[in-house]
This record gives sequence, structure tokens and C-alpha cells, in this order.
Amino acid sequence: MQKVTLLPGDGIGPEVTRAAREIVAASGAALELEEVLIGQRAEREAGTPLPASVFDSIAETRLALKGPTQTPFGGDYRVHIERKDANGNIEQRTYPSIAIALRKELGLYVNVRPVKNYPGVASRFEHVDLLIFRENSEDLYSGMERMIDEGTAEAIKIISFRASERAARFALDYMRKLRRKRLTVVHKANVMKMTDGLFLKTALDTGKDYPDIAVDQRVVDTLCMELVMRPETFDGLLLPNLYGDIVSDLAAGLVGGLGVAPGANIGTECAMFEAVHGTAPDIAGQDIANPMAMILSTVMLLRHIGEFGAADRIEAALTAVLAEKKHLTRDLGGEAGTRGMTEAIVEKLKA
Ligand code: NAD
Repeated sequence: MQKVTLLPGDGIGPEVTRAAREIVAASGAALELEEVLIGQRAEREAGTPLPASVFDSIAETRLALKGPTQTPFGGDYRVHIERKDANGNIEQRTYPSIAIALRKELGLYVNVRPVKNYPGVASRFEHVDLLIFRENSEDLYSGMERMIDEGTAEAIKIISFRASERAARFALDYMRKLRRKRLTVVHKANVMKMTDGLFLKTALDTGKDYPDIAVDQRVVDTLCMELVMRPETFDGLLLPNLYGDIVSDLAAGLVGGLGVAPGANIGTECAMFEAVHGTAPDIAGQDIANPMAMILSTVMLLRHIGEFGAADRIEAALTAVLAEKKHLTRDLGGEAGTRGMTEAIVEKLKA
């Protein structure tokens, strides 16, 4: 039995992770989900939104399934971390959000976000099948931001050869395994000549080791225009952290919205699976949230650990429910709740 740390998170997190739990149980996958508090409930009960228990559990399981966690907009909110180094000394660090703290502390250096059409999910486009690879550890998300004076703020953008090469190589290896043919490197190297220039050059150079994959490039603004005009012409996208964050929400919008877009954060020691969407405070606690993105993130986790049978069964059950269009959440044009849609998928798994 493979143990997995389950982090329900905030807002709609507990609702969609409950759905994932029920679906894993019905699929017969050999997973044991160990629930650990994170976010606002952890803050109330343990005095910190990211307690040591989260790291302790992931150190053992090396796998996490995470619901979204809330971060206030603006202000001086920081997540404080205290961890022991190899010599037993306490190290303290701060991060702009829980998600960023986890990605950095756990060395989750790349974020994979597949975006494709599903039958039954209405969207403006057909034949979209994109693999988005987002460098996950640096860029403007370095957390190095400060007020210079009352009227001026600055943020530091970090791009390194090491992180860019590692993300590019991961993307190319992943694409090769799936026999995908084209990776587009996304940047703004015409303006950010050194930082994005380094990211672009590193990715193009790394691509030379993969003659079976065509590696080309787009400036991020041009890419956004092309994506909303002809998304079906793109195959894989490799982006620095900030553009990756923005473009993956845009891409989710191409195929039905944030309710349908899953994701995986991959590192050398462990992996954490979470939907692209956030805590959706406007619909939290109302049994409205679409559980699909969280369920597909679970499918990615199962494939990551080689549980292909259970992953295929869950995806087939979900696809059947979508195609029938009888038990869909509101964002998909239906009237079912989170629980109703989950139950319909569970029924298909048991049939
Ligand atoms: P959001 O993704 O939470 O919501 C954007 C819109 O999409 C809302 O209208 C919401 O109702 C809808 N939506 C999102 N998920 C949905 C689902 N599963 N089913 C149906 N509709 C869904 O983005 P936001 O409002 O910008 O952010 C809210 C909070 O989430 C913020 O505190 C933000 O920091 C946090 N956030 C966390 C993560 C994470 O933990 N990885 C990621 C993104 C945002």
C-alpha cells in the first residue's frame, strides 16, 4: 500500500479533496491517504498555516495530494518556516505563500499542467491537447520584494542556468516518453535580455540533445494571441514561473475553465499533485465546486507511481460521466453538486 499525504487546504479544498478520496477508494488503487492539516485550519489549531507535521509526513510518503491554500492579496503576509538542517540546526525562512513555500522547501522544480478537451465539456475550441511545463523555483516568485520608499516597490527576478536546464530537460524527457513532437519555449527575451535571454538560450541549447523534438520559441505576448486563436497548433510549452502561472490559467479557459485543469509539481525527492485552481472563496462550502481538476490531479499521481490500471479506470469513469452530461457541476453547464458529480463517477467505477 502506497502512503500519500493528503492536504485538504482552504476554501473548496476540503470539498474537492474529499471527492478525490472517495474516487481513490472506489477505484481499488493501492493508496493510503494520510490527512494532514494545512492552511487556515492548521493556523487555528497549530498556530501556523504550514506546520512541521506537513514536512514530516511528506518526508515519509514522498507524495502529496494538495488542495488549494489561500493567500491574501497585497500586504506583508509571509509564511514562516522553521526546519532542521542536516546538522540539527534550526533554519528559518519566509515565503509569499504556502504553495511557494512547499514547492521551494521540497525542491519541486517543475510544474506539469496538461490541458486538453474532454467530451461533454463545452469550450470554444476543439482538438486542444497541450502540455504546459512551468519552471517552479525562481523568476519573480523569488520572494525578494521590498518597498524602497513609500511610493516605490521593487521585486527581484532570478533566472539561473541550473534551474532553466533542469526544467527544460524534464520537459523534453516527459515529451519524449509520450512521443510528443514540438516544445515551444516562452519568454520575453526582447526586453528581459539577461534573465529571459538565459532561460531561452538554455532551453534551446538543451533541445539540441533531443533531435526527435522540434524546439521553437515565442515571445509571451505573441503566444497569448496565438493560443486564443489556434490553440490546437501547439503541443508542449515551457515557461518561466510567472508566465507559466498566467498562461496555464489562460489555457484552462480554452478547454472549459479552472474546474478542469490538473497539475503536478515534480522534484527529485518527492512530488505534489494539485489542481491549477485556487480556493474559489466565492463558491466555497456550497457543494458547487467542480471536483474534476482535483480528480485528474489524482490520476496524474497514480500514473506517476505506476498505478496505470486505477488511473485509466478513474479517467474512463470521469469521461463517461462528462459525456452523459447528466451529473455535471454548474461551471460545466449542469446542475449537480460536487457530491452529485463525485457519486456519479463512483457509480461508474463500481459498475
Ligand atoms: P481561484 O482559482 O480560486 O478562482 C477563480 C475563479 O474560478 C472563481 O470564480 C472560482 O469560483 C472559479 N473556480 C476555481 N476553481 C473552481 C472549481 N473547481 N469549480 C468551479 N469553479 C472554480 O482564483 P482566485 O480567486 O484568484 O484565488 C483565490 C485564492 O486561491 C487566493 O487566496 C489565491 O492566492 C489562492 N490560490 C491558491 C493556489 C494554490 O494553492 N495552489 C493557486 C491559485 C490561487
